[in-house]
Amino acid sequence: MILFKKTEDLHKWLDDQRKKGKKIGFVPTMGALHEGHLSLIESSSKSNQVTVCSIFVNPTQFNDPKDYERYPVTIEKDIELLENSGCDVLFMPSVVEMYPEGLGLPLHYDLGYLETILEGKFRPGHFQGVCVVVHKLLEKVLPDNLYLGQKDYQQCMVITKLVDLIGLKKKIIINICPTLREPDGLAMSSRNVRLKEDERKKAVAIFQSLSFIRDNLEKGDLSDLKQNANNILAKNGFRTDYIEIAGANNLSLVKEWDGKIKLVAVAAAFLNEVRLIDNMLLN
Ligand code: AMP
Repeated sequence: MILFKKTEDLHKWLDDQRKKGKKIGFVPTMGALHEGHLSLIESSSKSNQVTVCSIFVNPTQFNDPKDYERYPVTIEKDIELLENSGCDVLFMPSVVEMYPEGLGLPLHYDLGYLETILEGKFRPGHFQGVCVVVHKLLEKVLPDNLYLGQKDYQQCMVITKLVDLIGLKKKIIINICPTLREPDGLAMSSRNVRLKEDERKKAVAIFQSLSFIRDNLEKGDLSDLKQNANNILAKNGFRTDYIEIAGANNLSLVKEWDGKIKLVAVAAAFLNEVRLIDNMLLN
């Protein structure tokens, strides 16, 4: 695996590969890698001759500065995992390399409705930061295939919209990969390492509340179902930002279900200081 810190060096190397007709797959991450990330690398290496992974903890997408300061960093372990995973290139830029013009966001991405709900509503500015960094990374890597995790359901929609909005000179195919879970059902997340032992035991309630919605879903009014799911979180000490049922295709919030449209349940909740998110397709 080759490690690049400078865009110019990455560009040169990737240009050479493109000239040789190699397809490039790209997996952007914020590091503290786990098997969920590695499953994206594996998907990429199956369909591309070159797989690029980036590790960059992006300051502009943290609406809470403390969350940024406490974001786990495990570079040596990450490099070891990537070496053994089929990753060809690790791009690990500095903040200055990514934001030579400073951290102000000069561009505004018109994300419309998507930015007004769920993560957009509870983390103001978060998706603008995501768009800025993904835009920069896509311009640097210009991949054929981009790999994203369903774990961040709304982010997948935002990035799909971003790719339409920015019209890069190359067509990028977006591949959305399933969420990898721990044996008890907790979605793998870099933030899980911040959970204390007792919190880790309770954390599975987020998966249980989503499973409860899936298992009890019926046509008609959904408010009791959501309330009962929220009670599972509350009983386990979670402070809920939201637990909602939405259209799987457009994330429009659904109060009454017609028994037909495809639904997804989405949740975000805090266990003390740690904010976890998860989602589940329902039908
Ligand atoms: P992050 O480092 O958390 O920004 O995540 C980088 C990429 O990995 C994103 O596309 C995430 O959706 C994806 N990802 C995170 N957790 C998981 C998981 N448990 N299973 C599959 N993909 C994941």
